[in-house]
Amino acid sequence: MQNGQYLKKKQQSMVDSGESARRFTREDLAFVYNRLSERFETRFTTGQALRDQHASVLTWLPAQAPDGVVFPENEAEIAEIVRLCASRNVPVIPYGTGTGLEGHVNAPEGGISVDTSRMNAIVAVHAEDLDVVVQPGVTRKQLNEYLRDQGLFFPIDPGADASLGGMAATRASGTNAVRYGTMKDNVLSLRAVLANGEIISTASRAKKSSAGYDLTRLLVGSEGTLGIITQVTLRLHGIPEAISAGVCPFATEKAACDAVIATIQSGLAVARIELLDALMVRAANAYSGLDLPETPMLFVEFHGSEAGVAEQAERFGDIAAEYGGGPFSWATKPEERTKLWTARHNAYWAAGALRPGMRSLATDVCVPLSRLAECVAETRRDIDETGLIAPIVGHVGDGNFHVQPIIDVDNPREVEACKGFLERLVQRALAMEGTCTGEHGVGQGKRKYLKAEHGEAALAAMRAIKQALDPKGIMNPGKILPD
Ligand SMILES: Cc1cc2nc3c(=O)[nH]c(=O)nc-3n(C[C@H](O)[C@H](O)[C@H](O)COP(=O)(O)OP(=O)(O)OC[C@H]3O[C@@H](n4cnc5c(N)ncnc54)[C@H](O)[C@@H]3O)c2cc1C
Repeated sequence: MQNGQYLKKKQQSMVDSGESARRFTREDLAFVYNRLSERFETRFTTGQALRDQHASVLTWLPAQAPDGVVFPENEAEIAEIVRLCASRNVPVIPYGTGTGLEGHVNAPEGGISVDTSRMNAIVAVHAEDLDVVVQPGVTRKQLNEYLRDQGLFFPIDPGADASLGGMAATRASGTNAVRYGTMKDNVLSLRAVLANGEIISTASRAKKSSAGYDLTRLLVGSEGTLGIITQVTLRLHGIPEAISAGVCPFATEKAACDAVIATIQSGLAVARIELLDALMVRAANAYSGLDLPETPMLFVEFHGSEAGVAEQAERFGDIAAEYGGGPFSWATKPEERTKLWTARHNAYWAAGALRPGMRSLATDVCVPLSRLAECVAETRRDIDETGLIAPIVGHVGDGNFHVQPIIDVDNPREVEACKGFLERLVQRALAMEGTCTGEHGVGQGKRKYLKAEHGEAALAAMRAIKQALDPKGIMNPGKILPD
């Protein structure tokens, strides 16, 4: 559909549905729409297919497409777009690669999706300082391919080839976080366009600073609700001399989790330690052509010197044996490791293939490590009692695990059963002094849990920050803070 036709149809639907529910009128939308069309020409579209692609599709939450999508190429253009939208109260939804799992890029009130994919330049590598400056649309794989020849890498790995702007905005982590931390630990500074169009820089490249409020950490995890990240400075790490990786079967999830706790407590510097429950191993075998025994399994990786990784792998094997685990088979050959970790990274798709044609819902919680075994065991029991098909996979070295119910959304009883399970999962994690999300973020799906997790006073402080930085509420509305 041409842009002009879309506007006419949209204006009519706004009249039909009563404009008062929205923060902007059809004249506001027409104004923004005309300016964006003139200024960005083919880089602004209201085409149905692109709008649909910019809604959240990797969730069972209903997809809510924006009114238009614009593709800026630099920070000044983003500031211009935000100022224009702010002048007419039209929402702005930052977009990276759309892999957020909690309805993050949905546009419940309409508005303009700001797609950062054309801002994908690596601005500067400071090898001697172990940092890199990137535009927000650079993806993690793109960055690591670029860095490889210099012997450096960026460790945060959420599986999906997400944008670094999106990863900063969701405070992402993933398989390497147990050793290298999350985006919270690896973003040194940011540049961002605020809701009034002003551009801020949150910190210098210094490794540490005590100068004022920590705006870097305020924006990391803000999910596009406080501003649009236009540049990120990230910590880098040297590619380890040697890597060993292996798999270790256990009789139960609890035994595997107890082995994880003992491994971390022993001070063994594990780089990745991932739990797959028996169902997820079955899914991975079928999807990725593995032939692992279909029992709870830890995937483990060590980084260091040749001798160091061999010694660490042996020590891990001994610890696992104390919990009835093993044999621990490990390999240092890159092709064997790649096969294993590719299977782990494909776990989301492998799980979905357990029930073709059904919807997947990937959710995550995180608890203190000492409560992990109990939380996973209770969750497994709950899944079985509820009768769901829901594999568990987790970054268990951090106490973080994912559950992925695969459900028939056309079956109301199944949907209700799943909703009840999700509620109990979060309440269980909170009761164990954990969090409703360790890494996926709040988006739309977890807003209702923020009060229970943080309390009214902390929630009021968050609202005050939002009000101060985005008084018109145009930045990614309907996310993080509950109504
Ligand atoms: C198969 C699969 C596995 C996953 N595994 C993990 C995992 O292990 N760990 C993990 O942490 N996540 C995981 N995720 C979730 C997802 O990859 C992360 O949340 C990721 O950080 C999102 O990045 P994105 O570029 O896709 O952002 P998007 O989905 O495009 O956006 C996510 C949020 O960030 C905001 N945003 C995007 N760009 C900007 C910007 N420049 N400025 C301000 N706000 C912005 C958006 O408005 C939105 O609120 C997984 C997803 C999939 C599909």
